[in-house]
Amino acid sequence: MPELPEVEMVARHLRKLIAGRTITKAQLLRAKLAPENPPRQFAAWLKGARVEDVTRRGKHILTHLSNKRTWVTHLRMTGRFVHVDADEAPPPHTHAAFWLDNGRKLLFADQRHFGMMLVVKTSELDTVSHLSKLAPEPFDAAFNASYLHEALQRSKQAIKLFLLDQTRVTGLGNIYAAEALHRAKINPQLPANKLSRARAEALHSEIVAVLTEAIEAGSTLETDPREVYGRYGDGAYEDSWRVYEREGLPCLTCGEAIQRLAQGGRSTYFCPRCQR
Ligand SMILES: [Zn+2]
Repeated sequence: MPELPEVEMVARHLRKLIAGRTITKAQLLRAKLAPENPPRQFAAWLKGARVEDVTRRGKHILTHLSNKRTWVTHLRMTGRFVHVDADEAPPPHTHAAFWLDNGRKLLFADQRHFGMMLVVKTSELDTVSHLSKLAPEPFDAAFNASYLHEALQRSKQAIKLFLLDQTRVTGLGNIYAAEALHRAKINPQLPANKLSRARAEALHSEIVAVLTEAIEAGSTLETDPREVYGRYGDGAYEDSWRVYEREGLPCLTCGEAIQRLAQGGRSTYFCPRCQR
């Protein structure tokens, strides 16, 4: 599943491809992709709109349109955009198509069918339930050590699970939560409210650092102009993972074997010596 750095790459890539372009026609091919927009409304609200910008909020891609509407996309597990000539046959599992005024079209393909789209009035964007509950963006000034420490104090959840809760911290998934905890030398099972102010500060720094490094690693990649997809787990930043999927391998800091445990139904990787 793409995490924040991968979604950021997709948003940046999309911006290069479609900002300034007008959508001449849109078609929702699988109605459940956009359950809150009937297919005719989805098509009508996008048709004729010029793309002003493409940004990201959490793992949502926000395409800002000239008609005071915003087109929201969540890739979930396998959603991806493909940018091809207008007459090219769509790949399997294409669930939506967007024709552009330059003879190209953008397709949304999603093998696992978990992707989500939504077109809303921009003035109502803050009330969209997918977005309104999200914590501040990790790179915003509002996400600082004080914010994190106060949020931690209000939770008795294991710190790893706390970090995955997008209403408390936005942008960490299973990989980067494990990496940030290792870098900050925090045991993933520690209750959130047991973290001291100093350790919360260290964790805040490492969250920002690991996400920044992952984005920088990804942004230097040569991306396929056809596949508007952030690289995921195929070398972009994988070589930098210090604990994720390294069970039994030596900790890069101390040499102890990395351990894996199950938390919330997912694997957590950590060093039992460094992370106490
Ligand atoms: Zn270690």
